[in-house]
Amino acid sequence: MTNKIIIIDCEKYPKYYKKVNMRPKDFIEKSYLIGNTIILGKYKNKQRKIISYYHELGHLKTRKHYLEKLEQEINAWKVALDEIPIKNITKENVKYILHCLETYIPHINLLPKTHIG
Ligand SMILES: [Zn+2]
Repeated sequence: MTNKIIIIDCEKYPKYYKKVNMRPKDFIEKSYLIGNTIILGKYKNKQRKIISYYHELGHLKTRKHYLEKLEQEINAWKVALDEIPIKNITKENVKYILHCLETYIPHINLLPKTHIG
């Protein structure tokens, strides 16, 4: 990877959402990759924030190879879980990962349609 990665932590830049024309709530428990910039949202759970960071890194590493959105998400999580330096991901955070994935499955109507991660 030759391109520089920029990391914006919304906990340190609480008004950053304005720069990207989004709402503060868009950064609660959510992170994004825009170009080569990883925008980390606000998380109560530190492990979840680290997991989300590795997920966005996973997008950066796989985005050119996979076109279908759900497949992109699955592959970004695969890279994240391979590379994350955490041995024991809590049950709650495993559930969080599954929930993030579910938001990309169009046929599941029981869940809110806001994509996470
Ligand atoms: Zn994602």
